[in-house]
Amino acid sequence: MNRKDCKCFREHVHPYQYIRGIPPGPSSLQLLYGDVLSISMKTTIVLLGPPGAGKGTQGEKLTDEFGYVRLSTGDMLREAVRNGTELGKKAKEYMDAGALVPNDLIIGLMKEKIKEVNGGVLLDGFPRTVEQADALGEVMKVDLALNFDVPDEELISRLTQRRSCPDCNAVYHLVTKKPKQDGICDKCGGKLYQRDDDKESTVKNRLEVYHKNTQPLIDYYEKKGVLVTIPSTGSIDEIFEKVKKAIQ
Ligand code: AMP
Repeated sequence: MNRKDCKCFREHVHPYQYIRGIPPGPSSLQLLYGDVLSISMKTTIVLLGPPGAGKGTQGEKLTDEFGYVRLSTGDMLREAVRNGTELGKKAKEYMDAGALVPNDLIIGLMKEKIKEVNGGVLLDGFPRTVEQADALGEVMKVDLALNFDVPDEELISRLTQRRSCPDCNAVYHLVTKKPKQDGICDKCGGKLYQRDDDKESTVKNRLEVYHKNTQPLIDYYEKKGVLVTIPSTGSIDEIFEKVKKAIQ
């Protein structure tokens, strides 16, 4: 059996703990195989940075290579919109305008999801306001905040040329990260689309919202001594090398 099919791998529980019924937790993940978190790696990581900075792409790589669980509020909200849930109906108009969904909707959702995770977790797109960061601090200690730093002009080009998979949330770029077959997701065969909020007028608004509401979190986590800024304009693999150093 491939070890990724093993229940103890999926649930981030060391086989010894699984057999003996020892509850999972961050330390159990650290005991796992050589290619997932080693003893010194950071367990709770916040991915900070403007939209289009590569948080999702780098988060996916960390998940594939080290077994982190990635929680993306943007992905959760888009799924809620697609499924027409109450949350989706409330969130849609904010998302379409490139505005932030109100804190009370997001904080409750995220606290629920965080409770379900055992082991290493990446928070992608959360927190986005100081109020959200305070709420997170009540339930979890952040070990590392990775700040992906990219100039606005580059972000506009990246976002407007981004294409996303509605089925598995993989992201592509029309120039720098093309799918093997035009318009088709390499990972699951889904039909790629352009998110409404990746259109130019909304992108500019999202960047403004980021500078006003989310950038203050850079200071917030710096004061807590957990911030690492990663200049993020090179290739995906070059940036990932810096990310790997930061999580050790
Ligand atoms: P993203 O995919 O992270 O760029 O998120 C897409 C949209 O979802 C954002 O523009 C917001 O409207 C909404 N959103 C995602 N995460 C949050 C959050 N933590 N707080 C408020 N709104 C959010």
